[in-house]
Amino acid sequence: MLKKETSKEAFERYIHISYSQLKTYLTCPQKYEFQYVMGLPWEFIPEYFPFGKAIHEAAKIFYRTLKETGRRPTLEDTTEHFKACWDKETQVNNIRYKENQSRDTLRDKGAQLVKVFYENVAPQRIIGVEVPFSVDMVLEETGEVLPCKLAGIFDLIESDEEGNFIIVELKTGAKRFTDDQIDLDLQGTLYSYALRQMGYQTDGEETLVRYDQLLKLKNPDMETYYAVKGNVHYIWAYTLVRKVLKAVNNEIFFPIPGWQCKECPFGTTCQQEK
Ligand code: SF4
Repeated sequence: MLKKETSKEAFERYIHISYSQLKTYLTCPQKYEFQYVMGLPWEFIPEYFPFGKAIHEAAKIFYRTLKETGRRPTLEDTTEHFKACWDKETQVNNIRYKENQSRDTLRDKGAQLVKVFYENVAPQRIIGVEVPFSVDMVLEETGEVLPCKLAGIFDLIESDEEGNFIIVELKTGAKRFTDDQIDLDLQGTLYSYALRQMGYQTDGEETLVRYDQLLKLKNPDMETYYAVKGNVHYIWAYTLVRKVLKAVNNEIFFPIPGWQCKECPFGTTCQQEK
């Protein structure tokens, strides 16, 4: 257990910004406005939403059982958790599946991915599973503090034999990450920064982030990538977050039409705005 884990009460006392809010703004400021400023209901739910949730649920049960009992749950149990979560999350009828996909085919694909996860994952010492955090963002050179706290949930924190912490993020996707994607990944930077604000690093000023990526391919696979995050990344992230907050404060919300529109749950509203 992390000593400085954020309690629900402490969390509710402050205004927060999360990685997914930042990602939404950086993908399309208008989508951010629809979602977080106007609070519009979604026109549909993209399938990757319940899919990612069900995969994370299975991984959570796997890690928690291992942490608490020292033993892995069975593959059958882990898969059952995926299926139960998938069945529950997809009961609603506004899920949008991609061409050639359905509730049943994705249920099977998910079970295959859980098997790949189960066979490949090799955790070190588990420190925390789904650990919430809420931290100040501070520019160390000047002491400037952003007006919002950074909030999120670590999927998993492990430690090596010397007790050094490593952040682990579980991802699902159809394409393997490139080196640039890993190096520039904002989520890894923000989460390692949050861990440092809680008083932990991997080594000196740097923190190791591991990405376990489950690949939704015809033959499902799992890749593991590492990134080392430190002060250079943190200053860059601080500046970026400050600029996004300033833009939101000034109500700068414009559409960015592109690949992201296909899966945007505000497409009809967006068309009507024009
Ligand atoms: S449809 Fe495209 S441009 Fe419009 S809000 Fe969604 S992502 Fe932005």
